[in-house]
Amino acid sequence: MASTRSSSRRTPVADRALPPVFDGHNDALTRDDHALLALGREGGDLDLPRMRAGGMRGGIFAVFASGGDEERAPVPRDDGVIEFELSAPVAHEPASAEATSAAGRLLALERQGELRVARAIADVDAAARDDEPPVAVLHLEGAEAIDPELESLDLWYQAGLRSLGPVWSRPNAFGHGVQFIAPSSPDTGPGLTDRGRALASACAELGIMLDVSHLNEAGFWDLARLELGPIVATHSAVHALCASSRNLTDGQLDAIGDSGGLVGIVFACPFLRPDFADDEDTPLELIASHARYVADRIGVEHVALGSDFDGATIPAPLGDVAGLPKLLGALMQAGFGDGELSAIAWDNWRRVLAEWWRDDGSSR
Ligand code: ZN
Repeated sequence: MASTRSSSRRTPVADRALPPVFDGHNDALTRDDHALLALGREGGDLDLPRMRAGGMRGGIFAVFASGGDEERAPVPRDDGVIEFELSAPVAHEPASAEATSAAGRLLALERQGELRVARAIADVDAAARDDEPPVAVLHLEGAEAIDPELESLDLWYQAGLRSLGPVWSRPNAFGHGVQFIAPSSPDTGPGLTDRGRALASACAELGIMLDVSHLNEAGFWDLARLELGPIVATHSAVHALCASSRNLTDGQLDAIGDSGGLVGIVFACPFLRPDFADDEDTPLELIASHARYVADRIGVEHVALGSDFDGATIPAPLGDVAGLPKLLGALMQAGFGDGELSAIAWDNWRRVLAEWWRDDGSSR
């Protein structure tokens, strides 16, 4: 479908070549119709044909253990605050079973030649070329699939795990996820446990990137204090523009900048809009506004993309992954030049992954 791609990629700004895109978070692997990921499917936000159409050459593919209670209605409150009850814990055994199946799906796609699972930064570099398959970084969103003694972590690493968020928005053996409340500070509870700190250190030693996106503020600072690597939020936005507990305060942004980390700007409407509405009628320029805020505060080298495709309500003007060229157009309209656009779209992700993996690409 090369003709589709070239026409759609030229749409927003016809005379500027668009860089390849690396996206920091999608939930496509754990959708019910995941079997159609390679062929393309009717619904959802992301599959391989639409990735090609949108110029997405790489991304972090999340494996998420569902407890079945994630899609709740907010608790009614008189003061207008939108508060969701914290999801219940998920035990290690069912999480492990679910996660190994989802990771197996990704490895099968690699065996079929549909994509490459990133084990080294050379895999990311190869995917930037048009004639290579796209690259997928295997990510655990919540570490319930890892046993508290961490005995399975090496196995997961050997299977390709290169990124991990200790918690989703629920408690587990490793810490307490951030509760969804808006407006609210991200300071919603206790942070990492001793086991959580041990997990983080073990990940850093192996070369598995750590993600702070679903940590509450205490957990964020617990992880930051360990100084294990650049602080990375794979799919979050700016608290000053949308005061959701899921978003990053100015102080957190400053710490991310100081550590050499990045923010993958999330496309989820409730984390972008000042009114928190879970409404797809949301301008995609709002994503560019969050990117602009982070760039102006801590530098463009700390800005990247982290869609949450297949995990959230995406602005309708963007639609799905095939709409990424429109977002790149909006970033250009927000004043980002060609070099800055490449940094946001690909190079910043490449830099922090290489740092966590302690791999500058020279060994291959
Ligand atoms: Zn998430």
